[in-house]
Amino acid sequence: MKNIKDYNLDDLKEELKNLGEKPYRAEQIFKWLYDEKVRSFDEMTNLSKDLREKLEQEYTMCNFNILKKQQSKDGTIKYLFDVLDGNAIESVVMKYHHGNTLCVSSQIGCKMGCKFCASTGIAFIRNLTSGEIVEQIIAAEQDTGEKISNVVFMGIGEPLDNYDNVVKAIRIINNPKGLNIGARHISVSTSGLVPMIYKLAEENIQCTLSISLHATTNEKRSAMMPVNDAYPIEELLQACKDYIAKTNRRVSFEYALAKDNNDNLEDAKALVKLLKGMLCHVNLIPINKIENGKYDKSSNENIMKFRDYLNEHGIVATIRRELGSDIDAACGQLRRKSLNSQ
Ligand code: SAH
Repeated sequence: MKNIKDYNLDDLKEELKNLGEKPYRAEQIFKWLYDEKVRSFDEMTNLSKDLREKLEQEYTMCNFNILKKQQSKDGTIKYLFDVLDGNAIESVVMKYHHGNTLCVSSQIGCKMGCKFCASTGIAFIRNLTSGEIVEQIIAAEQDTGEKISNVVFMGIGEPLDNYDNVVKAIRIINNPKGLNIGARHISVSTSGLVPMIYKLAEENIQCTLSISLHATTNEKRSAMMPVNDAYPIEELLQACKDYIAKTNRRVSFEYALAKDNNDNLEDAKALVKLLKGMLCHVNLIPINKIENGKYDKSSNENIMKFRDYLNEHGIVATIRRELGSDIDAACGQLRRKSLNSQ
C-alpha cells in the first residue's frame, strides 16, 4: 500500500488529481498530517466521507507504534518504533536549551562497517522510505506533546546511502506546509560517500553537512572506517570544500576520540593542518566503547587538551555533551539488542 507521508505537497496534488479530486485537497490533507498530526483519515473532517474512504483504501497513514520507550535521567528519550513490517527502528529525542532535537534513523541496519559503531554487525535489512523518516518526527511529537525543532540524521544507517529517500524526507520536513523545520535545523551526517556529497551540494537545501572524520591519516581512518578505502581523506575534504562553496554553509566535522588511537596532540596538529582555512566546526565526541570494541574512551583531560589545541589554532571545536548514555542512547550506541523486535 502507498504511504501518504511519502509525498511532498506537489506530488500529493498529482495523486489527488489522479483520484479525480481538486489539488487543494492536498493542502487540507497536509494540514491534518503535519499541523494537526491526526492518526486516521477519518479525522480529516473537512474532506468528504467519500474521499476519506477512498484515501483509506489507497494509502496507509504509517502510524508508528511505540514498542519501547526509555527515558534517561537527563531527559533524553529513546524510542523503539514498530515500522509496521515486523522491523523496528530507534529514534532519540534530546532536550537542549534551544529546543528538542530528534536523532532519526535512515536505514534498518547499516552497510558501512565502522569499527567503533554499535550498528556494525547488524544485518542490513532495507532503506527507510521518506515517509518512514518523517513519521519518526511525528510520532515523537505526538508522544511528547512537544515540538521537535532540530533533526539530525545520526541514528542507524548511512543517510547518503539512502540518498533519494533522505532528500525527499528533508524536503517534507522543511516544507513550511509540512513539518516546517528550517533547513538550517537539519543535519545530515555521513561517513563520507563522496559522490553523494557533491550531489547534495546541488540540491539547493541549506541543511548542515556533518562529516564523520575521526582520523587524520588514511591509514588510521581506514582502520576505523572501511569506507575510507573507497573515498580517502583528500577526496572527502575536496567534496566538503565544494559543499561549502556551493551552499555557503559551515561543515561540521565529527571526531570521536579514542584513547591512544587518535587523541594525542600530534593528531590535533594534523587536524588543524587538514582543516585550516575551511568554513567548519569540529565536534569532539568522547567515543562510546561498544561491546567487544577495541576503542576506549579518551580521558577527559585529553579531550579538553585536544579541544583547546584546536581552538588556539583557529579551528572552532566543541565537546559534544553525552546525553542518554544510561539508556544506551548516546552516539553510536543504538544497537541490535533493541533493534529487532523478535
Ligand atoms: N552513518 C552516518 C550517521 C550515523 S552515526 C555517519 O557515519 O555519520 C552518527 C555519528 O555517531 C557519527 O559521527 C558516528 O561516527 C558517531 N559514532 C558512531 N559510533 C560511535 C561511538 N561508539 N562513539 C562515538 N560516536 C560514534
